[in-house]
Amino acid sequence: MKKLGYGMVVVLAACIGALAWSFAPATLPVTAPDMPLQLIHPQPPADMRVGVFMAGRMESQGAFAYRGGPFETIEFGMDVVVVEHPKGILMFDSGFGRNVIKHTETIPWLMRQMSKITPEIPVVDQLSSASLAPERIAGVILTHAHWDHVSGLDDLRGVPVWITQTERDFIRDGGDKTTLARSLGELNYRIYDFEGGPYWGFPASHDVFGDGSVVLVPAGGHTPGSIIAFIHSADGASYALIGDLAWQHEGVDLPAERPWLSRVLVDEDAQGVRDALIKLHLLKMAKPDLVIVPAHDRRVMSTLPPATRSNPLAAPG
Ligand SMILES: [Zn+2]
Repeated sequence: MKKLGYGMVVVLAACIGALAWSFAPATLPVTAPDMPLQLIHPQPPADMRVGVFMAGRMESQGAFAYRGGPFETIEFGMDVVVVEHPKGILMFDSGFGRNVIKHTETIPWLMRQMSKITPEIPVVDQLSSASLAPERIAGVILTHAHWDHVSGLDDLRGVPVWITQTERDFIRDGGDKTTLARSLGELNYRIYDFEGGPYWGFPASHDVFGDGSVVLVPAGGHTPGSIIAFIHSADGASYALIGDLAWQHEGVDLPAERPWLSRVLVDEDAQGVRDALIKLHLLKMAKPDLVIVPAHDRRVMSTLPPATRSNPLAAPG
């Protein structure tokens, strides 16, 4: 009996040691790209604009974000990038909605314990103060369908929600990872395909406006149908909205994946996430002026122009 007790202590100590080790700094191996980086130059219209709405935040441990992350509380933004293009206004993800506190009841208990949620002004209310009527939104393009990216859709009924078939299936079959998206019911989903060729190291693409200003590529792993949105504005700035492939930009810069505990809780395919992080790391090396925008890295989001300023495109039309 005594022997069994010692054995259990040893096993417990080994488990605690392994868990601690999983948070230790470790970078992913960077190898040569498996396809050429075709750096196609886009031609965005001169009056296209890119901005961001800050639409909620969550405080959590930095150590959860990437291997080697700080053991201190950091802020995770729940922000919405807005593209005002002459052919239509696009939003990327939807931030925390008016019912976000109720929405948190749909997420697993352990995830609720790991973070503190602070609502900010819901995006639907920020849209009206920016004279952007929801009817003028051509679409909300989801980077993926986790709860913190779809909460604001509850306030935007009728607005087209652009999504891949793979992610639509994940909403149906994703268990507790997509409880909130499922509970929102049948939204105005628009399914799109990646009919375009390889783009910036990714195997296929969808050019939203046909001018190279907004290009979506598949980057499954965090969820099966996760995407990256490349945005090129007329002022020469280029952004890669990478959703939750990394929660903070160090995930791409180092590159470093999430620690084991975070991966188990949120990633469907850890190898898919690693592959995408390495591709993004290589892309950033080839194109240093590309701004990598993790959906929750408020340090990066804060460098984007606010979407709330007065804008001629925002006038009621
Ligand atoms: Zn996510």
